[in-house]
Amino acid sequence: MAEKITTYRFDCLDQTLSQLNQEDCTIIAGGTDVMVLHKSRRGVPPKIPKPVVFIDHFSELKRVYQNHKDLHIGTCCTYSELLEDPLIPIPLKNAIKTIAAPAIRNRGTLGGNICNASPAGDTLPLLYVYNTKLLLRSVNGDRVVAISDFIQGPRRVQRHHNEMLIEIILPSVLEEGSHVVFEKVGNRNADAIAKVSFAGYIRLNGFRIKDVRFAFGAVGPTMVRSIDIEKKLLGLTIPLADADIAQIVAAFDKIIKPIDDQRSTALYRKTVALNLLRYFLCMKQYQSN
Ligand SMILES: Cc1cc2nc3c(=O)[nH]c(=O)nc-3n(C[C@H](O)[C@H](O)[C@H](O)COP(=O)(O)OP(=O)(O)OC[C@H]3O[C@@H](n4cnc5c(N)ncnc54)[C@H](O)[C@@H]3O)c2cc1C
Repeated sequence: MAEKITTYRFDCLDQTLSQLNQEDCTIIAGGTDVMVLHKSRRGVPPKIPKPVVFIDHFSELKRVYQNHKDLHIGTCCTYSELLEDPLIPIPLKNAIKTIAAPAIRNRGTLGGNICNASPAGDTLPLLYVYNTKLLLRSVNGDRVVAISDFIQGPRRVQRHHNEMLIEIILPSVLEEGSHVVFEKVGNRNADAIAKVSFAGYIRLNGFRIKDVRFAFGAVGPTMVRSIDIEKKLLGLTIPLADADIAQIVAAFDKIIKPIDDQRSTALYRKTVALNLLRYFLCMKQYQSN
């Protein structure tokens, strides 16, 4: 006989937060990761050890709005909703289009991708180069944390059991002049988990580099980003000299340490990651997007 699961679906967010304060629950937004994590063998209902609290029905968690130059995205916006929203930056839409297939994109949420903290989460490299901040809420109030501090390892995030992710904040993303790319390498163009992913961000003043950021996915326990390496490029002009490109690639070669698994080999992942970086650095022109 199927085991009973206690589930909550409150009318208001405050009730949800007070329940989370009383009891350690599994939060379900779209459920596309939770259901896989707790799946049983075919025909047997999933076993979820904790009570479940649903949050996907709260309209306040589905808002996308601009506050000065920052973009605020509600944690429960589904991928399909984000693809339709005119405020969402094109590179993020490009990343979303590579995620799963429409059925999953109709359920899966941006907040779920972050809180699941998979090394292969497709939105994560971009969210790292956007310097994303996360608004978390509990009965004790709100706090804002950088995504790179929040994600600690595979499926490990710095969230207290009484907290919920409320908003994803992309600082200054609506500022003119940055060129951002996302590249994902998988077995096919859609419905494939990444073997390697890469996000690059560059902002120029004329030909001079004012800001530059890189993040690599699926080549370590979390996204690989190095502010120290990025700093070496500040103030240089494009096109970059071959020696500068080689120095940056060599620096990332030292810190990218992928593993072999069922999806790919460490050697393939490292080679492709460095090729994507080299390709980004070799561009002679960057167009603002
Ligand atoms: C067939 C299939 C294909 C997939 N393909 C891809 C792919 O190509 N790329 C990719 O990146 N992912 C993929 N995924 C994974 C998944 O769809 C995404 O990670 C999705 O974004 C998860 O969102 P969700 O709302 O369904 O999360 P859920 O399953 O609801 O939650 C995921 C985790 O986050 C926690 N959580 C969710 N919301 C909050 C919140 N507001 N506050 C605190 N904790 C929260 C949950 O408790 C859980 O631990 C795939 C999944 C499936 C089943």
